[in-house]
Amino acid sequence: MGKNEAMALTAAALAALRIDGERLWKSIMDLATIGATDKGGVRRLALTDLDRAGRDLVVGWCRDAGLAVRVDRVGNIFARRAGRDAARRAVAAGSHVDTQPSGGKFDGNFGVLAALEVMRTLDDHGIATAAPLEVAIWTNEEGTRFTPVMMGSGAWAGIYGVDFIHAQRDGDGCTVGAELARIGYAGDAPMGGTAGGPGFDAYFEAHIEQGPVLEAAGLPIGVVVGALGQNWYDVAFEGMDAHAGPTPMALRRDAALAAARLVEAVNRIALDEAPDGRGTVGMVAVKPNSRNVIPGFAQVSVDFRHPSADGLARMDAALRAAAADIGARGGVGVEVKPQVAFPPCAFDPGCVGLVREAARRLGLPHMDIVSGAGHDAVHVASVAPTAMIFVPCKDGISHNEIEDALPEHVTAGGNVLLHAMLARALA
Ligand SMILES: [Zn+2]
Repeated sequence: MGKNEAMALTAAALAALRIDGERLWKSIMDLATIGATDKGGVRRLALTDLDRAGRDLVVGWCRDAGLAVRVDRVGNIFARRAGRDAARRAVAAGSHVDTQPSGGKFDGNFGVLAALEVMRTLDDHGIATAAPLEVAIWTNEEGTRFTPVMMGSGAWAGIYGVDFIHAQRDGDGCTVGAELARIGYAGDAPMGGTAGGPGFDAYFEAHIEQGPVLEAAGLPIGVVVGALGQNWYDVAFEGMDAHAGPTPMALRRDAALAAARLVEAVNRIALDEAPDGRGTVGMVAVKPNSRNVIPGFAQVSVDFRHPSADGLARMDAALRAAAADIGARGGVGVEVKPQVAFPPCAFDPGCVGLVREAARRLGLPHMDIVSGAGHDAVHVASVAPTAMIFVPCKDGISHNEIEDALPEHVTAGGNVLLHAMLARALA
């Protein structure tokens, strides 16, 4: 057999390569037994004993697969499969294994175990890559016990300093640094995404969509082209407490009425940016919160999301104009207080193209999609070429114990991950 024939056979064998979907599904179910809840969900908060047990299980699987495991200073775990060229940066994939207090089996866990399944599949078939491959498990993505959210990936990318992260406290006063040491995950590897660190050649993250778009479209794969930017605010209205009976309607300075008008305005501002704008008021506080007192104070939270910085700027201007107008109309003082801002994220066109091409070659129907939620991939994308793969989840529900996904969709996402990583790492 000539050299070209051998290469052609190899290409055909590679094109036919598939992950073991049953093994991936079983791994997800096995990991979900740690912290399992009565309603079929998972509760495994970051840096708790249960998080340690979940980490230990996955790290054990990685070691069984012959991967070299290292842990960095904020507890991020990296499991490396050597490539032929040790000098090359790794082609990485992963997500997180911490969950919400009443979380599901798939959020984060699917992405980590899909990355491990890629390694197991390559081992099964004796396939070596030129670039090293890595499974990445990021610390505290959910941000429930400790803030900020997406903590580990943010520190890896240099967005947060290690000392800042170690000093963060939970509601009981426990620090991240002490809890990392307590559960045995205070590593010494440097922050890989910062200057001089090993970085990644590319990073891919498979994840359930956590929204209803793919299911409604009947598609197994979403090619994630980026993530919505976010602006969070508190808007406070200052009126005058007064008696509900003697005070005529025309003479009131009703802060709750102003807040209600702002809820309506936030909805309109987002609809004006359809279909990509999002506007949510999730918290409303009224003082004195008494049945027969006209409230003199009200505060609402505002969460705006948009795929473009221009769109976020338009929504910001519209919010300020609406708040000022509502204040003037109701005789109440207004303060718009920005809280958190995440700029819109556009994933790397090269990596996005590899995901799309993998789906196409696998014959999997797909669409481009923008993530409405934050993910570790958004932080990684600030320093390394990055893309994400979405699979549908039942009724679009996540951050809920009833979160569910179909085995065939999980398998499809794993196969897209396999072929996107190989396209980057083989040659
Ligand atoms: Zn997640």
